[in-house]
Order: sequence, then C-alpha cells, then structure tokens
Amino acid sequence: MSKAAYAELEAKWAEIKDLENAASILGWDQEVMMPGGGAPARAHTLATLSGVIHDRTTNPVLVKLVQRLHRARKSLSPRQRRGLELAHSKVMKATRIPSELARKLSMQESRGLETWRKARQQRSFKLFADELSKMVDLKREQARLTGRGGPAYDALLDDFEPGMTMAVLDPLLDALKGVTVPLVQQVIDSKVKVDLKPFVGRFDVEAQRGFARTVAVAMGIDLGRGRMDLSTHPFCGGIGPDDVRMTSRYDARDQRGGLFGVIHESGHGLYEQGLTAARGRLPLGGAISMAVHESQSRLWENNVARSRSFWKHWAPKFKQAHPQLKGVTVEQIWRAANAIRPSFIRVEADELTYNLHIILRYELERDLVEGRLEVKDLPAAWNDTMASMLGVRPKHDADGVLQDIHWAMGLFGYFPTYSLGNLYAAQFMESARKALRGLEKRFEKGDFATLRGWLAENIHRHDRIYTAEQLVKRVTGKPLGVEAFARHIRSKVNEIYA
Ligand code: ZN
Repeated sequence: MSKAAYAELEAKWAEIKDLENAASILGWDQEVMMPGGGAPARAHTLATLSGVIHDRTTNPVLVKLVQRLHRARKSLSPRQRRGLELAHSKVMKATRIPSELARKLSMQESRGLETWRKARQQRSFKLFADELSKMVDLKREQARLTGRGGPAYDALLDDFEPGMTMAVLDPLLDALKGVTVPLVQQVIDSKVKVDLKPFVGRFDVEAQRGFARTVAVAMGIDLGRGRMDLSTHPFCGGIGPDDVRMTSRYDARDQRGGLFGVIHESGHGLYEQGLTAARGRLPLGGAISMAVHESQSRLWENNVARSRSFWKHWAPKFKQAHPQLKGVTVEQIWRAANAIRPSFIRVEADELTYNLHIILRYELERDLVEGRLEVKDLPAAWNDTMASMLGVRPKHDADGVLQDIHWAMGLFGYFPTYSLGNLYAAQFMESARKALRGLEKRFEKGDFATLRGWLAENIHRHDRIYTAEQLVKRVTGKPLGVEAFARHIRSKVNEIYA
C-alpha cells in the first residue's frame, strides 16, 4: 500500500512544483524583462497562480494521502520517510491557514508595501505605523494557527529556517554580538585609513560586467544551465539545477556592489546547479533552508573573494579590465575589499558590521511579535540600538527603521537567516581547508573547481535529505557555533586595523 501511496504523493508533488516553477519564472521576468506597464496584469496572474498552488496543496485528496502515509510511515524507507516529513509539514501548515487569513495577509502586504514606499520617500515612520501594526497582528494570528504551542516568533522563523527556534538563535546571536562589538570599537579607535581607490572612483560598467562574468565562470557557473541579467535588486532565482537565473547591478562610482554581488549570487547559483536534477520535482528536492543557501553565497563572497590568495590570482586581470588601476598592488586591493566602516545601511555594510544590522532587526522583530515592543516605540528603539552597537545614529527614518522592505511584506523571521548564513559559511570553510590541503595555493593558481567540487559533494547534491542541523554536524563534526566566524573575522581585523 505505502509504496503506491508514496508514488502518488510524488506525482502530486511534481505538479505543484511545476506550478511553483511557473510562478518563479514569471517573478524573474517581472524583475528583469517586463515593461513597467505590465505590472497590474502580472499581479493578477501571480495572485491567481498562487491561489491555484494553495488549492492544490490543501486539496483534501492530498491532505488525506499525507495523513495516511504519516500513520504508515514505519513501512517507508528512510529516504521516503524524510520526503514524507517535508511534504507533511508543508501541507499541514498550509491547511492551518484559512483562506480568509491568506487573503487578508496578501491584501495587507500590498497595502503595506505601498504605504512603506510613501513613508520612506517622506522619511516618516508615522505614516507607516498603522499598516505595520496591522501586519504584526496578522502575523501573530498566523503564528498562533501554524505554531506547535511554542512562542509565536518560532512559528514564523520555521517558514524560513525549518527547525530553528529562539532558544537556539538567542545564544548564537548574543555570542556573535559579543565577538563583533569590540572589533567594531577596535576599527573606530584605529588610526588606519584604508584607501578605497581600487574600487571607488570611475569605472567602465561594461568592463566591470565582463570581469565579474569571468570570475563567475571560473567559480564554476555553467551558463548553459543559467543566465546572468541586470535588475534593480540582485537575486538568484529560476527553477533548479538546469535553469538558474542570477541578476546583478553595477555602479560606475563603486565597483564593490557589482563585483561582490555577482560573486554572492553565483554562490547561490552554484548551490542550485549542484542540486540533484532528478529530485527537482520530488519532496526531497531543493535547498535545505534560507541560511544554508545564504552560507553558499557568503562563503564565496567573503571567505573566498575577500581573501588575499583570491586577489593574487585575479589582480592582473582586474587591472587589465580597468587600466587606471595600473600600479595598484594585491595588498591594496585586498585591504580595500575588506574595508570596515560602520554606517546606517545594511545592504552596503561590510562583513563585520553586517551582522550587527541583522541582530538589531532580529531583536526588534522578535520583541514586536512576542508583544514586548510596541510599533510606536520602534523608531526610537532602532535608533538607540544602532547608536549603542554601531556608534552611528540615523538622522531620519529612511536611513533607519524604514530602510528595508521585509517588514512591509510581512517577512518576520527572515532576517536572522542572513547572519546564520555567515556562521555556516565560516564553519564550512574551515572544514574545506582541513579536507583540501593547500586550498589557498590553489586559489592563487586560479583553481576554484576543487572547492566547488567539495561543496557539491558535501552539501549541494544532498538536497533536503538532511536537516540543516544534521548537515552541519556531518560536514564539520560540530553543531553551528560562532567560533569559526570569530577566528576568520578577528584575524582580518587584527591585520588590517592593527
Ligand atoms: Zn544571498
């Protein structure tokens, strides 16, 4: 019985996945190709499609099937049991959200976004406060329905990082704060001024694009199974290993966003291209979690492309692309790539201060959802925390509490995955260095395939067979911690800001 029932589950799952893939390509098209006038029609198409996906996911035949399999799970193979666990969790969660609440959430998202844009333009949180309060109420309601009796915030976190809870997250992020704050102070107190000349000035955009593409291909991006286009907000999407869509943007005055952005998205792209294509439409297929995905982008962006050995190989080609950099040394480029400067804006933050931006948002959104902080007190809490952690205080709300789109869209529980990604990245990288002797020398020779092969073998190809918790133990022998990241960042800061 179970074998046939599991095959039926896989067939139904594949159809839902196809619909999700269609929505993903329409979403990519919206950001990359669609003329502005197409927005209203696209909104209808995507809303209808997401309704169809929800109907399919909560269809009584599928619900009964996963419940029946769940009861008979002992007769399944371990792989099937894991596939079922993933399917069961997604289906049951979807059934717990009544369509009335789903409709309210989607309406509130549109209204919230529109109001947030206006409020940000006028630099006034007051204009946005009511809509944000309504969103927080709806998310609390969602958490009450989908949670398993624990704190509301845990239920929201689970949507982005399955299995993660505040009980695990709080000590990790507190430890990360403990590592970071004194290092930021060390940078502020240091007399060292890093010269940004290798990246900041005037640089031909086509030359930037050509160089970034060459790096991505050397990392192992297969452009026969992927694309690279331009968009306002860089992302990596598509529909799995054989069709990965990466985007980027370039700035003639500052190369960092373009180059490190392409390397970041290519790290996501390598993960996608390394997944097992044959499992793409099955419950076991796809990436494990947001944080594991982010670990793959951060590992290439920060642990590889901000290393000296990376620039020992690339500096000559980089200078060839930008002849005005003639005479600039590897050392200068490396220092400039690692310059640290506390600022207000998360997306422009350096590797060290970035995590403080995330911890700030995490503490505030956790307290909002848990009812420990009121929306009206949010801007003051934001500014005070920023001043105490980063030593800077935003002059207006657009540089502060209004800078990110996440809360307007109801994405509570998303932010922590960025910092978890940084921690996973450093821990994976230490294991890669141990397993692959002479990795730095390989980078110097332009060999990035060895590292990519190791990541594919140990992380990518397993899809969702392991949980994030199981994976990190399997690959690194330890649970996730801050030690590897602390070693990595401390040595950089000590060397540059001595
Ligand atoms: Zn990313």
